[in-house]
Amino acid sequence: MRIIDLRSDTVTKPTEAMREAMARAEVGDDVYGEDPTVNRLQEMVAGLLGKKAALFVPSGTMANQLAIRIQTQPGQEVIAESKAHIVRYEQGAAGALAGVQLHWVTGDRGIMGPEHIEAAIRPKDQHSIQTALICLENTHNAGGGTIYPLSTIERIRAVASAHGVPMHLDGARLFNAVAATTLPPAAYAQHFETVSVCLSKGLGAPAGSLLLTNDPALIDKARRFRRMYGGAMRQAGILAAAGIYALEHHIGRLKDDHDNAKRLARKLQQIPAVTINPQHVESNIIIFDIIGHRLCPSELVAALRREHVLINAVGGTSFRAVTHLDVSTRQIDAAADAFARILG
Ligand SMILES: *Cc1c(COP(=O)(O)O)cnc(C)c1O
Repeated sequence: MRIIDLRSDTVTKPTEAMREAMARAEVGDDVYGEDPTVNRLQEMVAGLLGKKAALFVPSGTMANQLAIRIQTQPGQEVIAESKAHIVRYEQGAAGALAGVQLHWVTGDRGIMGPEHIEAAIRPKDQHSIQTALICLENTHNAGGGTIYPLSTIERIRAVASAHGVPMHLDGARLFNAVAATTLPPAAYAQHFETVSVCLSKGLGAPAGSLLLTNDPALIDKARRFRRMYGGAMRQAGILAAAGIYALEHHIGRLKDDHDNAKRLARKLQQIPAVTINPQHVESNIIIFDIIGHRLCPSELVAALRREHVLINAVGGTSFRAVTHLDVSTRQIDAAADAFARILG
């Protein structure tokens, strides 16, 4: 039986058509700026997000870390939500590489309010550490794929501008927010000095992210640090071609992943051992709790694996399932049946 892999949307494999686009890609040395496919991808994503410049990088982590590095000085502070990818899943890079301190703010399923941000910005006096950057994440991964309401972003932007602090958007999953709300990506991006987006999540490319900004000087700086961080690639057009294909063919279908996530959430809700609020499933990530079961979390994960269903335990009694390109609605139903057999 085929494995139903719900651990992450990063597990998607390039489709045949994507592989063909990769094989046909025109390439050159991107360190010389001569890879036409990388250049085309950068222009395409800049256009989509309404920014003047884009830089192709190997991973979302690198895109975020470049954004932090180019907009801060060592010894300054960066505001981020306490469960943010930048806080939890980047190996402390902000401290290790940029020399900044992260100031965590706890949001509601990852979403911070303008009043939280206002309270976290440091006074500009001789004693206080200086706030250099505010980072938001949309959709918020560990928050459960939560979508930042645009009105909240607008109010946070007003606070940031009043204090003269720039903003970065970790938009690794921005296209999920776009698919769910049907807002144009630029409606979100316009409020941020820098934005990162990932091609290798729900969009289904094998690798690659972009950093975007309106400021040519910031992109030049990012290009230097990309080199320092080991992310300057040569014939990267092979990867960029996969990204172009993904943007042309896979944005619209993200809605299917969201429908599948809601479907699984409603089925899980029928199982008494599962605690879940299907209304909290806003995109393709489902976070739920299994409380008081005789099996501990790792045993539950193993029991599901024996039923060919893969999910992640994410601490305490919580679990995460993620829908994506390589999981069909029929497989969602099969996964729900496996949950019911094990937990029923
Ligand atoms: C996946 C992800 C990233 C980047 O991950 P990489 O594995 O480094 O590409 C960054 N932020 C969020 C919110 C993510 O979901």
